Amino acid sequence: MNYVSTRNKKLRMSASQAIVQGLAPDGGLMTPEVLPRLPGKALLSMKDMSYQQRVVYVMSRFLDEFSARELTSFAAAAYGGNFDHPAVAPVRRLNDSTYCLELWHGPTCAFKDMALQMLPHLLSSSLSKIDEEKTVCILVATSGDTGKAALEGFKDVGKTRILVFYPKDGVSHIQELQMVTQAGGNVGVCAVVGNFDDAQAGVKKLFSDEKLAETLAERGYFLSSANSINWGRVLPQIVYYISAYCDLLRSEAISAGQEINVCVPTGNFGNILAAYYAKHMGVPIRKLICASNENNVLTDFIRTGVYDKNRTFHNTLSPSMDILVSSNLERMIFELADRDDALVCEYMGQLAESGRYQVTAAIHKKIQNLFAAGFCDDVQTKQAIARMWKEAGYLIDPHTAVAFHVLDEYRQSTGDETPCVVVSTASPFKFCTSVLSALGVEEHQEGVEVLGQLAEYTGQPVPAPLAALKGKARRFNTVTEKTGMKDQVLDFLK
Ligand SMILES: *Cc1c(COP(=O)(O)O)cnc(C)c1O
Repeated sequence: MNYVSTRNKKLRMSASQAIVQGLAPDGGLMTPEVLPRLPGKALLSMKDMSYQQRVVYVMSRFLDEFSARELTSFAAAAYGGNFDHPAVAPVRRLNDSTYCLELWHGPTCAFKDMALQMLPHLLSSSLSKIDEEKTVCILVATSGDTGKAALEGFKDVGKTRILVFYPKDGVSHIQELQMVTQAGGNVGVCAVVGNFDDAQAGVKKLFSDEKLAETLAERGYFLSSANSINWGRVLPQIVYYISAYCDLLRSEAISAGQEINVCVPTGNFGNILAAYYAKHMGVPIRKLICASNENNVLTDFIRTGVYDKNRTFHNTLSPSMDILVSSNLERMIFELADRDDALVCEYMGQLAESGRYQVTAAIHKKIQNLFAAGFCDDVQTKQAIARMWKEAGYLIDPHTAVAFHVLDEYRQSTGDETPCVVVSTASPFKFCTSVLSALGVEEHQEGVEVLGQLAEYTGQPVPAPLAALKGKARRFNTVTEKTGMKDQVLDFLK
């Protein structure tokens, strides 16, 4: 199967090229030329498969250049003992109509692992398929979660190196420890003086530095990113929606063909886009409920058809959703505009120029049929954490809390009691201080000790990868000014 750019359908390439390139050369996002559908009995036949088998079944429909054998070995490596749950992405029943899909059982305790444990295998194998001889070096600027997940995914994967820049004072103590203790022979981590925007602007500059690219090419390297617009990150996320439906069938929570809703805490629109593709493939999903925090640009877009990023940026308790430009939305618009690439170009041009665009009434109508949307402020986020703990004995993180709040509001306003799968995107132990505050505990212990404090207060175990931080030696100490980032890359790829 070939992939096309959302901004030019004539720009066509193979899956491995699309994965290696990440972004299309025209700035568009690479998307399957034809979206595959699941055969009629597929969901029933996948019901008794393991998660890894479901991965192979689903991904093979998009990646015909990869043999079943290759995909089987990727699935085993990506979703094996590095996950602390045999189901990989287990579905937890809360009541007869509410289920929680837990996507944080991987090595960094957040949902980014679901994609970033798979992407390095796809990328490394894509490089050999296109006969690329150079080694790829992934550069990442991170506000916390993505950097660690990318490091874990790429560590010791052949033909790859990875260098992560994080803002010195812009990540939590635990997030910093997670990164500077990272194992692996091909990894590097460096703090940048400044905030996340400084680190990100610095990395963007490195990507467009032709002199740097030339020097690195002579040394046998080229730079790439592990950004969430890469098709190799979206595809592994489609699997867990299909898998969740199969799990509900297997436990007889629903019967074959029965509709469910999904409620997804959303930032860059990647996770919920995967749910849309799952629906398109044939999973009976009725409504895609898009849950935002106070950065509610998507809520407004779904309700009004106007995307407008000209608004105040809020730092919230759910920082991984603090985003005003949801890049993956472009793939959605492409589908709902019946793949009218010229129209996508027009909208994206307007977004770049004025920060705003309005879709046609026809597109807006489709959006309203598919989606519901809501948002949640920090006070409501804390209330949702406290309520869920008190009423269900279920400890959730702030991102997941946003989704539960939005689901509550949706049910109250619509009366729609369709069984709903709420997507849980991080372990509460990644956000100990926010969770403790939500539970009414205002005095927090220092550093990693706060993990034990939350464990003691709730009686829930600290996830092993976080507990292990305690005794780990620091491997990386480098701090650079923004102007020194290029030298860091040159030094890393000597
Ligand atoms: C990245 C992230 C999200 C948002 O996912 P998108 O794909 O950007 O919508 C939500 N929760 C957590 C914990 C995340 O790390």
